[in-house]
Amino acid sequence: MSFNDCEVTFSVFSGGHWVKNHSGDISYIGGESRSIDCYPEAFFTTLSEDEFAGQKVWYKMPFELLHQRKLLRNGEQSFHNMVEAAKWCGVVEIFMVNEVEHPVEEAFYEHAEEEIRVERNVAGFVDEDPNFDYHNTPPNSDGEEDGVKLVRWKKGIGELKLNQVFDTLEEFKDALVEYSLKEGWNIKQNPWGKIKCGAICGVEDGCLWRIYCSYEEHLGKWKVKTYEDVHTCFKDGRSKILKKSVIVKLFLDEIRTYPEYRPKMIQDQIQQRYNLIATYDQCKKAKEKTISIINSDYVEQFSRLKDYRNAILEQNKESTVVLETVPNDDGNEIFRRFYVCFEAMKNAWTMWCRPVFGVDGCFMKCTLKGQLLAAVGKDANNGMYPFAWAVVDVENEENWTWFFKLLKADFNLQQGQHYTIISDRQKGLLNAVQNELPHIEH
Ligand SMILES: [Zn+2]
Repeated sequence: MSFNDCEVTFSVFSGGHWVKNHSGDISYIGGESRSIDCYPEAFFTTLSEDEFAGQKVWYKMPFELLHQRKLLRNGEQSFHNMVEAAKWCGVVEIFMVNEVEHPVEEAFYEHAEEEIRVERNVAGFVDEDPNFDYHNTPPNSDGEEDGVKLVRWKKGIGELKLNQVFDTLEEFKDALVEYSLKEGWNIKQNPWGKIKCGAICGVEDGCLWRIYCSYEEHLGKWKVKTYEDVHTCFKDGRSKILKKSVIVKLFLDEIRTYPEYRPKMIQDQIQQRYNLIATYDQCKKAKEKTISIINSDYVEQFSRLKDYRNAILEQNKESTVVLETVPNDDGNEIFRRFYVCFEAMKNAWTMWCRPVFGVDGCFMKCTLKGQLLAAVGKDANNGMYPFAWAVVDVENEENWTWFFKLLKADFNLQQGQHYTIISDRQKGLLNAVQNELPHIEH
């Protein structure tokens, strides 16, 4: 495709003017817009002379922000710059403002005030949710029952109270663990029943501290019915509620991120964070259990990824899906990296998007540790399109190179000429771009 001699699209906004809001953002309000296709050199002659009378004209590229707009004057350097940019980009936005009616700066704040007032009024309207049912309090909020105030349990506070309510038994269990960890009290759970459960002091020959919770049919929740909240025992640095399953829950995310986390480290962390003693054996078993959970998650996710790849390719044969694996020590294939570019995105990008794309990598905090690489384009309306993405183990030169090779093939980028890439210029990425797309503007 040649960019030297072709018509471009001008989105022309006229009859409106600039306003600046309280935070300094600029908008063009009022007037109308239309689209004109012509050679960029012929822009001033395509529109009638009358239209330019008394007008100040600005231009910007669709991917630029309004404050980056530039004044456009026929026959001056700004005009040549615009023509060059237009050829390269294919779309230019033009803004016309009547100089006499809207002499710049002063008009800005006047309107800004007006806009702020409008915003406030709107905010006033939406404050109250018309669909909110005041009689039927949602299950999670505090309420009242027979004059007794029900207290909703809040995760992470570590507090237990009489008349506290829980949506599930699991929540109550979590609340017990939080209480024990926060206060360092030794408690142990009583056998759980289907509708009743509780905990008592966990110290040998301990005190009268105890709590009972039961399922209230009419509330549809679990409610604390009995709570003797004072321990007269001494903290013994242990808690019977701190079982293997609890330790697994506490350390699952950390072990996922750092599989080298050793049982001794878990033990130390429990001591440091909660001032409680867990045995080495307990921590070792917890670590084993955690690893087996992670592995089964992994196998599960991996097989889903394969299904996903096959499903995509069945639906759209022209999509690109690459699932790379490496053998592990046991000879099983394990995940290495994954790349997807949908057929529809290839077409959309080729047809609508400007030859500019942004790439970025980011960490993923979900089940599998990894990093997401994405290529994002902007269309003529400044809409963002992620058109290809990949999951890799780490954001480095090798993985970026692999990503760009695939991008190049999917979008026929060749050496990158006529394209622009926007990135955080991280070193691995920079090298990969230089090697794969040496002629791209960066
Ligand atoms: Zn006690």
